[in-house]
Amino acid sequence: MKITIVAGARPNFIKIAPIIKAIEKKQHEGADLSYRLVHTGQHYDKNLSDTFFEELNIPQPHSNLEVKSGSQSEQTAAIMIAFEQELIQNPCDLVVVVGDVNSTMACAIVAKKMHIKVAHVEAGIRSGDWTMPEEINRIVTDSITDLFFTTSVWAGENLLQYGTNPMHIHFVGNVMIDTLTQNLGRITKPDFWDAFNLETGNYIILTLHRPSNVDEEQSLQKLLLGIDALAKDKKVIFPVHPRTKAILQNSMLDFKNIIYVEPQGYLSFMYLIKNSFAVITDSGGISEETTVLKIPCFTMRTTTERPETQTIGTNTLVGISIENLEKEFNKFLENGPRESGIPELWDGKASERIIEILLQS
Ligand code: UDP
Repeated sequence: MKITIVAGARPNFIKIAPIIKAIEKKQHEGADLSYRLVHTGQHYDKNLSDTFFEELNIPQPHSNLEVKSGSQSEQTAAIMIAFEQELIQNPCDLVVVVGDVNSTMACAIVAKKMHIKVAHVEAGIRSGDWTMPEEINRIVTDSITDLFFTTSVWAGENLLQYGTNPMHIHFVGNVMIDTLTQNLGRITKPDFWDAFNLETGNYIILTLHRPSNVDEEQSLQKLLLGIDALAKDKKVIFPVHPRTKAILQNSMLDFKNIIYVEPQGYLSFMYLIKNSFAVITDSGGISEETTVLKIPCFTMRTTTERPETQTIGTNTLVGISIENLEKEFNKFLENGPRESGIPELWDGKASERIIEILLQS
């Protein structure tokens, strides 16, 4: 079986790493399985792309479509045009897409129109918020997927509501947690650790990159000043995403606690998360990682496509107002972290399950 694996953006690289490892393991055992890795070039900054390939030992892509940035439609169209050529020149039996970025949707459409089977890893999750580009990407991708690999029972139920054949839904667990499990023993202090006097539990991690939080400069400034104040005596380490950096570049804000740093590589970022007092974020992936690492996480969004991080894990959905964040954060300061658990099958073995199922399909 010939598989083409697609990755385009930072969270994708983290998700494909264990899938490729699982394929290579099966190849060594003699399975008739080969893969071609296609990087669409959606994220191309060293900090968001190359670093992850190096740190997670992901093989160099066989092909890089180098689409780079553009509007939603420009980027989607550019990926589709380039990926069609890629598949014409390198036919395969199955295209595997992961997550919910533009590359996920664009490549799924191209493959399906060329009568190639599509497998979607992280299928079925839904925020219900159609203003999120990722939600459109999820819905479109799942409407043409052949094999659905899900992270939760809930995601499978969503798919059933859309009329998906239950035989095609496979609840396998979470590949992002495979990567976390495989790399926990390798996480490393960032080089600024000593310079900022960081110690376990004396700082908060902040990440923000969703349009609803960062695209409007004044409200982003208000949010940051509010977070700077609520941190009290704790430093706030803020790896600034390029999208957020572009908005903030002319803002002269005077912070007591917030420290801007570059987007971190996986190994230093996980070190920072694992040793933090708490995390404030608008990322979905980070709410999964904090759940497994048992770190309190406050998500600055009004909806989540990962409800298990809230009901079972450590995540609290706080909306996008600083007032609500303050209320929930103060509750946590008063009462301490709440009891939490780890969602079913988030055990580091999802990729192995996926490859077993692909070999039987
Ligand atoms: N991440 C990282 N360094 C950073 C910020 C994030 O390695 O400075 C990793 C982290 O593991 C997280 C993943 O990137 O799970 C997700 O990234 P992002 O927030 O871009 O995507 P989302 O989860 O919102 O889809």
